Amino acid sequence: MDLQLQACVDVGVTAFIGLPSYLKALLEKAEDSGVDLQVQHAFVTAEPLPPSLRSWLEERVSSVRQGYGTAEAGNLGYECERAEGLHVPDDALVQVCDPIGGEPLWNGEEGQVVVTLFEEDYPLVRFGTGDLSRFIVEPCACRRPTPRLAGWLGRVGDAVKVRGMFLHPAQAKRVLAETPGLDSFRFVIDRVEHRDELSCEIVPEEGIDELALSEAVKEKIRSSLRFRVDVRVVGDLPSGEIIDDRRTWE
Ligand SMILES: [Zn+2]
Repeated sequence: MDLQLQACVDVGVTAFIGLPSYLKALLEKAEDSGVDLQVQHAFVTAEPLPPSLRSWLEERVSSVRQGYGTAEAGNLGYECERAEGLHVPDDALVQVCDPIGGEPLWNGEEGQVVVTLFEEDYPLVRFGTGDLSRFIVEPCACRRPTPRLAGWLGRVGDAVKVRGMFLHPAQAKRVLAETPGLDSFRFVIDRVEHRDELSCEIVPEEGIDELALSEAVKEKIRSSLRFRVDVRVVGDLPSGEIIDDRRTWE
């Protein structure tokens, strides 16, 4: 890290491409060493960029943009100046497909990111990335005509289908992670009279207004995960498990 920092200073680095966590480590190292790094542009990729890390970086780097890709297929999406979703590149066919049937979903439904590359020396046809995303159907204000992915929403195998929609642990975690006063949570899925019932159990931190917290959690789940749920306050939850699927199928 010392060497890299020194190299950045020596060559007057102003831009960074790589892992957001690495950029953070580099900036921290610079701050600790009293070095003034002049990174003004960052294109970060290859791992999730949670809102807290993004704002930490944006306090220090004037433009931070996120990319999405896989080792096999290269760049599959990038944020424009609006930073509202990831435009797909025009040298690859990026689709979002039903994880079970394989049909392309252009209407904003969630599915697996599937890629076809047009390179003669590296043919890749309908390669399933295993990542979940959905398309943002509205045109982008930047006027680029390419469709936008809504970002990484989890892995295909982790997702659970509830009332015809996918609920995935990684996304649920991200949405609820920074809820003030929320100690832990768990989704419970049950099957009552042939209908899926989804609820969320929460453990509030001590001294928190339980009713207000329940409402806040309910609203986050509605607006970000697009599920209507009942929220129940409980005393304790087993650690690690985010989705408890109790449905039985005859
Ligand atoms: Zn745009």
